[in-house]
Amino acid sequence: MSRFFSKNYSSLVPYVPGEQPKHLSSFVKLNTNESPFPPSDKALAYAAENTRPFNLYSDPECTELVKQLSKTYGVEPENVLCGNGSDEILYFAFAAFCSDDQPAMFADITYGFYPVFAQMARVPYKIIPLKDDLSMDLDAFWQNGAAFIANPNAPTGIALSAAEIESFVSAYSDRIVVVDEAYVDFGAESCVELTKKYDNLLVVQTFSKSRSMAGARLGFAIGNKELIGDLKTLKYSLNPYNINSYTAALGVGTLLDQGYTDKNCSVIIENRQYASEKLKELGFEMTDSKANFIFAKHKNMSGEEIYLKLKENKVLVRHFGLDRIKDYNRITVGSRAQMDSLAAALEKILK
Ligand SMILES: *Cc1c(COP(=O)(O)O)cnc(C)c1O
Repeated sequence: MSRFFSKNYSSLVPYVPGEQPKHLSSFVKLNTNESPFPPSDKALAYAAENTRPFNLYSDPECTELVKQLSKTYGVEPENVLCGNGSDEILYFAFAAFCSDDQPAMFADITYGFYPVFAQMARVPYKIIPLKDDLSMDLDAFWQNGAAFIANPNAPTGIALSAAEIESFVSAYSDRIVVVDEAYVDFGAESCVELTKKYDNLLVVQTFSKSRSMAGARLGFAIGNKELIGDLKTLKYSLNPYNINSYTAALGVGTLLDQGYTDKNCSVIIENRQYASEKLKELGFEMTDSKANFIFAKHKNMSGEEIYLKLKENKVLVRHFGLDRIKDYNRITVGSRAQMDSLAAALEKILK
């Protein structure tokens, strides 16, 4: 830390992203929940044709993209905001909807960025422990504050039903509920429809996982017009051109080829089932994941040892040191071939 670093941030602990190895091809990379599939050819062709010239600023309204998103999700353009990854939007939500008398609330085991965003936005936060079975304890969110709920949750993969979230949102209509649906396309129920009925519900999604666009950085929020307006106030106060022109066009192309996304999601769901069975045979216990990852622990070997030995065998997974989940590893569900390499490496390690 330099002697000039603001004391506002002197205790800020940044998020630690999953490793991105230099020699990509030498690893089976199952540590950051990316899609194993490239964007569709149609989407890439659309982007090649429709990207605004780079000497011009990108469209701050993302007009085409917002139009296409509103069509896809059956809402009005005024209900949609795009961000540079959903991370950016989540940060805006912490800054926009939390304050000293309205702390952020989120689970003890959830997306690791939430406490970082709260610190960045300089707002207080309350930690709500998951239940013993690692499911979300919605009842414990009764307190005053803005609730941030990843659904499915990360890194457990466990999902709440839309009905459970609706009963919470309707019971606490004086407070905002932000549902982070980064993984919803892999088999959980979305709350997007509910945003039409409840003005205290904001849903955030991303193109990074189910839509094969992690490196292009694109996320979006859907909610009541006023909530979207608040987020826009922050976006236009920081960087109106937060989505680059290529990403905006690729996003439209991807939405126009929804069949490709749907097919890839079904393959991932099948491969999740396939890999879960293999892991079970090898003696692993898993949570009921509705995401593109498996959260698994083994009775005979610590989570950290499995992580390290897999790495020696050129398979990267994600291990978190937090006490409650240190026995587990989060393993991205990839292609069938990747799942076979994983199983082979585990078999060797556990022998
Ligand atoms: C991956 C992820 C995100 C955001 O990803 P972006 O790439 O910034 O869109 C948000 N929430 C959760 C829970 C995630 O796992």
